[in-house]
Amino acid sequence: MRRPASHAADTATSRRAIPQVDRLLTSEAFQPLLAAHPRAVVVREVRSVLDELRRQVAPLEPGALSAEALRDRVAAGLAREARPYHRRVINGTGVVLHTGIGRAVLAAEAVEALAALAPHPQRLEIDLDTGQRGGRDEGCARLLQEITGCEDATVVNNNAAATLLLLAAVARGKEVVLSRGELVEIGGSFRIPEVMSESGAVLVEVGTTNRTHLRDYRAALGASTGLLLKVHTSNYRIEGFTAEVEIEDLVALGRERGVPVAHDLGSGCVVDLAGYGLPGEPLLRRSVAAGVDLLCVSGDKLLGGPQAGILLGKKELVDVCRRHPLYRALRPGRLVYTALEATLRLYLAGAAEAVERVPVLRQLTAPAESLLPRARRLEKLIAEVPGVSAEAVPCASQAGSGALPARDIPSQGVRVTSATHSAQELADALRTGDPAILVRLHDGAVLFDVRTLADDEVPRIAARLRELAEPGADLP
Ligand SMILES: *Cc1c(COP(=O)(O)O)cnc(C)c1O
Repeated sequence: MRRPASHAADTATSRRAIPQVDRLLTSEAFQPLLAAHPRAVVVREVRSVLDELRRQVAPLEPGALSAEALRDRVAAGLAREARPYHRRVINGTGVVLHTGIGRAVLAAEAVEALAALAPHPQRLEIDLDTGQRGGRDEGCARLLQEITGCEDATVVNNNAAATLLLLAAVARGKEVVLSRGELVEIGGSFRIPEVMSESGAVLVEVGTTNRTHLRDYRAALGASTGLLLKVHTSNYRIEGFTAEVEIEDLVALGRERGVPVAHDLGSGCVVDLAGYGLPGEPLLRRSVAAGVDLLCVSGDKLLGGPQAGILLGKKELVDVCRRHPLYRALRPGRLVYTALEATLRLYLAGAAEAVERVPVLRQLTAPAESLLPRARRLEKLIAEVPGVSAEAVPCASQAGSGALPARDIPSQGVRVTSATHSAQELADALRTGDPAILVRLHDGAVLFDVRTLADDEVPRIAARLRELAEPGADLP
């Protein structure tokens, strides 16, 4: 597009007026910045601000090139850079397990354990009774035995690692039989057929997408079969004319033919959520009781702990995994064990206690009517902000991360619209600001689902909206 000549002339004039780096650095205005930051850092930021001004198409505001104005821009840039990459996010999306913001938030007990142990040496692989080397899994394994009834357990970085390790350790060079209805992809990079080939196991697909029968597995068994695998279709559902083989029947077939059976449960639910009005997820205890040889689950989905992959089942096979060379590459650090142990302890006192203390479970099971007071308070505080309107409305939350797929959980939200900005602009401003706030866009409005908000985040959201409503606010 051609710009009017006068505009081009303005731009050229202001470009010529852009000061030299050296002149700025010797100016009075820049001295406090130079005292507070290394010179090289200030120089880099000054160059970047000046480059930005040179590239700017619109005419510069009067005064934009004064040393003071440039100092303010440089200071703002330095402040932005000094913010840590990993920072708190306020989750107004209603997605309880949101992979982009770290899935499960930790229980207070896990946080306390981390704070107590992280600054100090801690017991990890040493048997304090004998002074000999112990197993780093022992603490979590004992709790998992109690909670699930398994014989043994080990911990790796995530469930993808657990799946890879179990396939490599048990079925490398052998065939793994899996239903065509369970060839899952989780979040793009975890795809069962690909993990299978990386592990060195050979995938044998049986049945069809919607129906797989025990006879399909039976027909696929042969001399080179190394494993029968069942994978929880955690992020999708096949509905209609369907049939799948129950884990108990698969275990019976494996027993009959002397082939181990593994179950990738995905979320790894310990508490039966059906009792809380939520769809039932497969329970760890059921698969263990069925006699599955190896199960794997995520630590940071419905279990509500840190990112981890938990492999549990029969002692002999857990040991085979632990002794495999990949184990050393996949095992987590001490902080993960610490947070996981503290989280698992919360399950010892029973379902009701766990639901109260594990934040993921508390958030998921909160009935919609219990969320109404928080929604009303957010509505009221936002309605006081000039230029925006707020309305408490019913909405639907999601578990996220493939847990309880395609199920909406009735919830309460606050619908917010601005007189001056589109919903997208408002959402962008909230996300890029401080604190970073994530929201949903629904029906041309910004929607806060209060299920995933903490009570003390409600006034912070209103305060941020108030900041954005001020004239000259930095909307993107
Ligand atoms: C989530 C999931 C995985 C991957 O788990 P991560 O902990 O994200 O590595 C694997 N299998 C199933 C069935 C899952 O639901």
